Amino acid sequence: MAQTYDKVALIGLGLIASSMFWAMKRGGLAGQVRGYARSAQTRETAREIGLCDVVCDTAVEAVQDADLVVLCVPVGVMGAVAQEIAPFLKAGATVSDVGSVKKAVVEAVGPHLPENVEFIPAHPLAGTEHSGPRSGFAELFDNRFTLLVPDENAKPEATAKLRALWEGMGANVEEMDAEHHDLVLAVTSHAPHLIAYTMVGVADDLSRVTDSEVIKYSAAGFRDFTRIAASDPTMWRDVFLNNKEATLEILGRFTEELFALQRAIRTGDGEHLFDYFTHTRAIRRGIIEAGQDTDAPDFGRVKK
Ligand code: NAP
Repeated sequence: MAQTYDKVALIGLGLIASSMFWAMKRGGLAGQVRGYARSAQTRETAREIGLCDVVCDTAVEAVQDADLVVLCVPVGVMGAVAQEIAPFLKAGATVSDVGSVKKAVVEAVGPHLPENVEFIPAHPLAGTEHSGPRSGFAELFDNRFTLLVPDENAKPEATAKLRALWEGMGANVEEMDAEHHDLVLAVTSHAPHLIAYTMVGVADDLSRVTDSEVIKYSAAGFRDFTRIAASDPTMWRDVFLNNKEATLEILGRFTEELFALQRAIRTGDGEHLFDYFTHTRAIRRGIIEAGQDTDAPDFGRVKK
């Protein structure tokens, strides 16, 4: 694979940034990668494990001369980070991010950026419940989608270059507008996470079923909820606070469907339940056929 950018800066060195670094290394996609993280401890760990070619002590130092700057911090701090680095960006550089929400990031970051940089927000639809500099791995984005949400003023060549980088890191790339992105993600990721958090919370509340029983007898369904509910609390707090509208819309619909199923159970309407579950089973088959999961009993998840 060919090198796409000469100098890349990763701001934030957690799961996504570290996976990007290892994926860029694997593909020989960047000349030099500089990284910055807020805490001295994370920077120290990064140096220890060889995460990034250079680990900088300030974000400003990391972005100077960079052809591509990727904000890999929680959604709630993207604006503040953009404000800090904006005066030091190289003319013609591309600024991107990996935030799980797009409209709020566009609104928080965009106004800080000078006109001579290209702003192309992105979101890799890949992750695990782990976080921090040690959690990344080169294969994270393989055969997963990355959605690009280019600013209307971004040059097509700049978008094409960022697309090539993500494809080089193994991703399938598509473009979408920010509002649509947030609605799609509310359905496919944000609402399901909230439901998982709730279900694990409910199990925890049920004092008639002890914690040890919940753990001992958890079949795949609940076990999967606990995996999702172990995701990073900062990240998910920021996702819900910044994708409020779409998430509330989907949760409203979810509640209506839940009531309908509840009613079917109470009234013994087996036909409703059977038809509903037949329909949902077809959706699962569609996901497998699209190559986005496997039908292995553990959902094919790699144990990291
Ligand atoms: P992570 O592993 O928790 O890493 C976050 C990084 O951001 C850390 O290096 C942290 O530095 C830094 N950071 C936190 N607050 C900061 C601040 N105020 N100023 C500067 N740096 C700060 O997170 P992640 O999972 O890689 O997520 C990063 C972004 O990717 C988020 O926007 C998230 O929405 C998005 N995303 C996540 C997933 C996923 O499944 N995890 C998937 C797709 C997209 P310290 O280590 O020094 O605290």
